[in-house]
Amino acid sequence: MIIQLEPKISEQAKAKLLEKINETGFKTTEVRTQFRHCLVGTGSKEFDIRTLGNLPGVADIHRVSDPFKLVSRKWRVEDTLIDLGDGVTLCRGDLAMMAGPCSIESEEQVFSTINHLKANGLRIMRGGVFKPRSSPYSFRGMGLDGLKMWSALAREHGIKIISEVMHTEQIEAMYPYVDIFQVGARNAQNFNLLDALGGVDKPVMLKRGMSGTIEELLQAAEYVFSNGNEKIILCERGIRTYETASRNTFDINAIPILKDKSHLPVVADPSHGIGIRSYVAAVALAAVMAGADGVIVEVHESPEKAASDGAQTLDFEEAGRLYGRMRAAVALRDA
Ligand code: PEP
Ligand code: MN
Repeated sequence: MIIQLEPKISEQAKAKLLEKINETGFKTTEVRTQFRHCLVGTGSKEFDIRTLGNLPGVADIHRVSDPFKLVSRKWRVEDTLIDLGDGVTLCRGDLAMMAGPCSIESEEQVFSTINHLKANGLRIMRGGVFKPRSSPYSFRGMGLDGLKMWSALAREHGIKIISEVMHTEQIEAMYPYVDIFQVGARNAQNFNLLDALGGVDKPVMLKRGMSGTIEELLQAAEYVFSNGNEKIILCERGIRTYETASRNTFDINAIPILKDKSHLPVVADPSHGIGIRSYVAAVALAAVMAGADGVIVEVHESPEKAASDGAQTLDFEEAGRLYGRMRAAVALRDA
């Protein structure tokens, strides 16, 4: 149950409302986001919600049977639009393409990638500066200095940035330089990080955990939303299965299921989803046709020289072809 409160609800009216909810046996959590003030009630007892809806200070009330509430489409029917400013948005029908290297490596690399994005009409660049690596001896990223260098160049060229935050302590330092915080698969259930990102007024893209269910991804989003940040993007990036022919198993089913269950935008990551360069385009196109609102791909001028994930990274020519085909696919899908 979600009870939307009037902006100027008095303390007295709120106390009365809480007392009434208490009587129903529902537990409540008070939520304040950038856009609203509400009470989220959890419980299972049947009662007539009109008894609460008529109380002073209540603007609206909805019953939401899903275990996740604020991110559920049962509560909000219309799609959420993520506005990155300067005319860059993530919304239904206007495929947001994000591309860039797995890791930010150098100024030259950033510059060549920005040129590639601009030549292809893309506005969002991906790249990691804090890299979660399976081996401690692998390249761990350029860190904050790399992010500052990247951000300065990107801003100059009107390009938005998405980059992974691995730790709560990195949020504040990264804040001025990123446009979207990415939470990686390995942090999909780092609840302290999710809580902290709920206190930030910037979009957050949540990747599905390696072995996370669709419901767990939606609950991760619920953490961010209920802590105050409504600007959330969901990302299917493949899960670990028994299959060894690909790095991960991209779950195409997740795209229409997430679109149906939640009002949040859904982005597909075919690069990590299959992990093999020659198959990335096929998965990307399938994800678009399945209803993805955006696609994030790894690209590099020379994938064989990439500091990380070269085996799943497209070169500029392959990526350019894919953008064109994805645009054609969206047109076909939404025709
Ligand atoms: C990445 O985007 O480079 C990355 C590490 O992704 P994931 O968290 O999905 O593995
Ligand atoms: Mn990667």
